[in-house]
Amino acid sequence: MLSAKEIQELLIKIADMYIDKQDELSKLDAVIGDGDHGVTMARGAKAAKIKVSELENGTCRDYFKTFGRTLVSTLGGAMGPLYGSIFLEISKACKGKEEVSLNEFSEGFNNGLLKVMELGGAKVGDKTMVDSIHPTVEALMKSNEEGKDLADGFELAVKAAEEGVNSTIPLIARRGRSRYLQEKAIGHQDAGATSFSYLIKTIYEYLKD
Ligand code: ADP
Ligand code: MG
Ligand code: MG
Repeated sequence: MLSAKEIQELLIKIADMYIDKQDELSKLDAVIGDGDHGVTMARGAKAAKIKVSELENGTCRDYFKTFGRTLVSTLGGAMGPLYGSIFLEISKACKGKEEVSLNEFSEGFNNGLLKVMELGGAKVGDKTMVDSIHPTVEALMKSNEEGKDLADGFELAVKAAEEGVNSTIPLIARRGRSRYLQEKAIGHQDAGATSFSYLIKTIYEYLKD
C-alpha cells in the first residue's frame, strides 16, 4: 500500500524518468515518427514535477490528478489527452482512499486503457502505446484477482509491458505518424509503447526499494 506522501514521491520519480529518457525516446520516435516523443514527455514531466512538488498534504487522488492534468495541458497534441487520461483515471480509482493498493492501480490503468482506445481509436496490433498498455492491464488485473501484493503485481506487469513493446517491432502502424511509413516501420519498436513500459518499470523499482 502506498500513502499519499509516497504517491507524491513516486510521481516525482516518474517525472525524473521521463526527463532522463528524453534522448532515447526521441531517437525511437525519429526512426518511425517525427522525433519529438522524448522532448514532449520531458516537457510535460518537468511541469508535472513542479506542480506535484508544490502540492502539500494532498490526497492520493490529488497527486495523480495534478500529474494528469499537467500532462494534458503541457504535452498538447494527441499525446496530452492520451497520456494524461492514464493518470486521471488512476486518480479517479483512488477516490476516497487513504492508501493505494493493486486494486486501485489495476482499475485505474484499465480505465486509462479504455480512455486511450476511445480517444485515439487504436486497437492492439496498431503499433501504438496500446500494445504495451493492454498486456500490462491484463497482468495487473490477474495479479489483483489472485491477491498478489503491489510489488509482485508490478514485477509481472513489467514483463508484460516489455513483451508488449517487443510485439510492436514487426508491425505496420495503423495509428500515429508511423502509419505513413507503411512497411518501412517494420523492425522498429514504437516510442509510446516504450515510454509506457518505462512508466511501469519505474513504479516497480519504487515498490521494490
Ligand atoms: P506525435 O505523434 O504527435 O509526435 P509523440 O511523438 O509524443 O506524438 O507520441 C508518439 C506516440 O504516440 C506513438 O509512438 C504511439 O505510441 C502513440 N500514439 C500515436 N497515435 C496514437 C493513437 N491514435 N492512439 C494511441 N497511441 C497513439
Ligand atoms: Mg512524435
Ligand atoms: Mg510531434
